[in-house]
Amino acid sequence: MGRGGHLPPGTLPKKAAQIGLLQLGYPEEYGGVPKPDIFFDVVTNLELARIGGGGVHPSLSSHSIGMPPILALGSEAMKARLIPEVISGEKISALAITEPSGGSDVANLKTSARREGDHYIVNGSKIFITSGVRADYYTVAVRTGEAGARGISLLLIQKGTPGFTQTPLDKMGWWSSDTATLYFDDCRVPVENLIGTENKGFGGVMINFNSERLNIAAMANGLAMVCMDEAVAWARERVTFGHRLMEHQVIRHKIAEMAKRILST
Ligand SMILES: Cc1cc2nc3c(=O)[nH]c(=O)nc-3n(C[C@H](O)[C@H](O)[C@H](O)COP(=O)(O)OP(=O)(O)OC[C@H]3O[C@@H](n4cnc5c(N)ncnc54)[C@H](O)[C@@H]3O)c2cc1C
Repeated sequence: MGRGGHLPPGTLPKKAAQIGLLQLGYPEEYGGVPKPDIFFDVVTNLELARIGGGGVHPSLSSHSIGMPPILALGSEAMKARLIPEVISGEKISALAITEPSGGSDVANLKTSARREGDHYIVNGSKIFITSGVRADYYTVAVRTGEAGARGISLLLIQKGTPGFTQTPLDKMGWWSSDTATLYFDDCRVPVENLIGTENKGFGGVMINFNSERLNIAAMANGLAMVCMDEAVAWARERVTFGHRLMEHQVIRHKIAEMAKRILST
């Protein structure tokens, strides 16, 4: 899908919700569809990769990284308000951890949140955030305490909060996925938007990591299958020097090697 796509903004999440895609793994009390095990995610990732456009699925599923910390640690009121809106495709959820100074070293993040009465005052920026421009709800990792993993908290920050702005990033690929830089400039966030306990947010960040790694691996495998199908179709169709590419032994070897590497992962 090209930049901007062909559907009016916001259409695809609602269509995905109509077939139950966004609800998978969320409790029934919030309108979710229970998921017996993680292999349901693996199959979903493999099949969605077969769209052939890498950005569509991450764009559709930013809630799968934005919402788990809320589901695990958020207050009952927060869950009851947000989850039904997000898994019905009405609202978009995003996760904001990575900063311009680095993403792998999460424990060293710098965006600060200083308590002032009934608010946190947030200052700093986040980068490479999926659904960063179009999201409504952002699960944001901030520093509320000491250096390192024990000084991190998670805040729910809503689009439109004064002092919170977003700019789109122009990527080389994945154009159908909106990726953005976020800026927090004396952004006042109500204390009831704290997700879980202050300074215990690092555990909330870690909740996502195992499933995220497995899902991205499944997506990469699905995309590799698409590439192989395309290569086989082309090798069967294309004729050079009186023969189809597929009739050349070297091409057959290449395709056999591709199949071996994809199927053995
Ligand atoms: C398309 C896209 C979407 C994204 N969506 C989100 C999102 O929604 N939310 C979000 O918070 N982030 C998101 N990210 C950011 C992503 O999580 C980070 O890019 C990632 O964590 C790596 O951080 P970095 O880019 O700052 O690289 P760095 O942390 O600077 O690392 C640079 C390189 O060094 C390697 N490296 C780092 N430390 C070590 C070490 N100790 N030993 C060996 N090698 C090391 C890394 O593997 C990497 O190859 C997205 C990124 C992309 C590209």
